[in-house]
Amino acid sequence: MEKDIEEVLFTPAQLDEKITELGHQITKDYQGKDLLMIGVLKGANVFMSDLMRKIETSVKIDFMAVSSYGLSTQSSGVVRIIKDLDYSIEGKDVLVVEDIIDTGLTLHYLYDNLLSRKPSSLKICTLLDKPERRRVDIPVDYKGFDIPDEFIVGYGIDYAEQYRNLPYVAILKREVYEK
Ligand code: 5GP
Repeated sequence: MEKDIEEVLFTPAQLDEKITELGHQITKDYQGKDLLMIGVLKGANVFMSDLMRKIETSVKIDFMAVSSYGLSTQSSGVVRIIKDLDYSIEGKDVLVVEDIIDTGLTLHYLYDNLLSRKPSSLKICTLLDKPERRRVDIPVDYKGFDIPDEFIVGYGIDYAEQYRNLPYVAILKREVYEK
């Protein structure tokens, strides 16, 4: 796996530091609220697991899975819910947890879909953001890092289901996905 990596962008220590900061901020903002974190599978799984343990107020979790890139590296713009939430979010303070926002098309769809279920509040937290690639406006409330327009893997984020178990965030070598 390591031979396919172009460059490590964020080490485990850098990730931990940033996620601790995010956890403190979320703890402050959600005191006395009914926080429900919704992880977007599968990429946000590792980030969500670490983030929830840095939050020192009551937290419930749920997951959704949506189709985005499939096995390629391009967003189709067509979003499909593969796994829906287990429970209603009506009246809940919902925080959507994403791995990467790229064009924003996936979250744009998800945001409108969740809003129609009448949560008490709806915010977005993403570990990584590629602002220069954005095609639709997304209100990002909590963000780990801005990153360049490169193809990223590691820390839960895959290419063709591989590399999710790398403990860092890295740029994948072009030759791996351009073969
Ligand atoms: P968007 O709809 O914002 O274009 O794409 C969002 C989703 O595409 C992310 O949640 C992520 O799953 C995937 N994605 C975007 N950029 C990358 C990337 O650099 N690497 C990988 N592996 N997936 C990405």
